[in-house]
Amino acid sequence: MSRSDLVVRASHVVTCDDAMTVIEDGAVAVRDGRIVAVGPAPAIAVAGAEVVEAKGRILMPGLINMHCHAGDSLFRGLVENLPLEPWLQTVWKAERAILDPATCRLGAELGLTELLLSGVTTVMDMFWFPQETVRAAKALGIRVATGGIFFDPPGMDGHLADRRLADAAAFFNAVEDDPFVFPGCLPHGTYTVSPKHLQSAARLSRSRGGFWCTHAAETLAEQATVLERYGRRVIAHLADLDLLGPDVVLAHCVHLDAAEIALLAASGTHVVHNPMSNLKLASGFAPVPALLKAGVNVTLGTDGAISGNDLDMWLAIRLAATLHKATTGDAAAVTTSEALAMATRNGARALGAIDRLGSIEAGKEADFILVDIDRPHAVPLFDPVTHLVYSAGRGDVTDVFVAGQRVVEAGRLLTADVGALVAAAGAQRPRIAAAIV
Ligand SMILES: [Zn+2]
Repeated sequence: MSRSDLVVRASHVVTCDDAMTVIEDGAVAVRDGRIVAVGPAPAIAVAGAEVVEAKGRILMPGLINMHCHAGDSLFRGLVENLPLEPWLQTVWKAERAILDPATCRLGAELGLTELLLSGVTTVMDMFWFPQETVRAAKALGIRVATGGIFFDPPGMDGHLADRRLADAAAFFNAVEDDPFVFPGCLPHGTYTVSPKHLQSAARLSRSRGGFWCTHAAETLAEQATVLERYGRRVIAHLADLDLLGPDVVLAHCVHLDAAEIALLAASGTHVVHNPMSNLKLASGFAPVPALLKAGVNVTLGTDGAISGNDLDMWLAIRLAATLHKATTGDAAAVTTSEALAMATRNGARALGAIDRLGSIEAGKEADFILVDIDRPHAVPLFDPVTHLVYSAGRGDVTDVFVAGQRVVEAGRLLTADVGALVAAAGAQRPRIAAAIV
């Protein structure tokens, strides 16, 4: 047996499978980084395996954050009380002054560390110098979906639009067959990237079997700009350019009409709901209940810490389960099972990896976390799913396993010196503050 063979026994295993099955006093057996058995603890053989006893804890899949800009963690709290468009102008000024491969690596390490400690095991990230994000992710032990950025104005990486396709192709070549990396193309948005460049990015991602992701229908101003420029709304614009489909991930989708929701559903396009970012930038309320009703695969994201000020997927889960109750007047608008699925299996589906990730089932990769329920806010516990959605928080995550390897143990990251990282990021403060003066 290999060294990674282990059995983890927990008070509850919340599988996040299709039926959202919960196993009381359950266990998960792992061999060579994959789950080989799941069931009641007495039924799982432990001979020869390392056994982790997690009594008083819930075992569940690692969270999948489907929209992030980890490197932007360097700018947390820098620009406040502005809506998206003027906010972006200031953000871009700071990024242009500060970002290079080294600072992008530092920002990625900071953001990805925050994510791992909170139980995120896979993240889709859109940022400059994506290969630095990959280096940080591999060193830390988190899976990452990222790739070439497309942006028509001069980029914060100093590159011009005419070399972006070559950059993106080089990214695909660099990460080929890496099980920790999902490569794709990530144009910024329909208002910052021309139809020609949106389509060339999609031709590349499709030819390489990757995903294609952009910000879409985030604000009313964006819808108005695209309507004025192209004579059609954002989702119709994407549809006309053949940029919807099961390989497409659209972040935000806050302002949609019924025809756009129908286009997303019919094409199998995936949506990332970012409730904290949408609230703080006053972007609006995404029509999540209508998207779910139409059969759209809705996933969850934090967006960057520059807009939401942290990368807390537990907050995203709780907001996804509560906001829409208030906006619709329907207390069952998004159920706890739906909210938890958005943060786990729906993300795996959007990555084309539902056979590998997103639930605790035999045959899948052993990406799972332990959540402490031996705490005042967890008792008495009637339903683990309800607890995870409404009462749990990132401070309850004690252990994180990725591909069967423990990355976080008792709240401590095993793959990096967090103290040194915090000091290095904090030391950037004067330079960053000066950049927007
Ligand atoms: Zn974003």
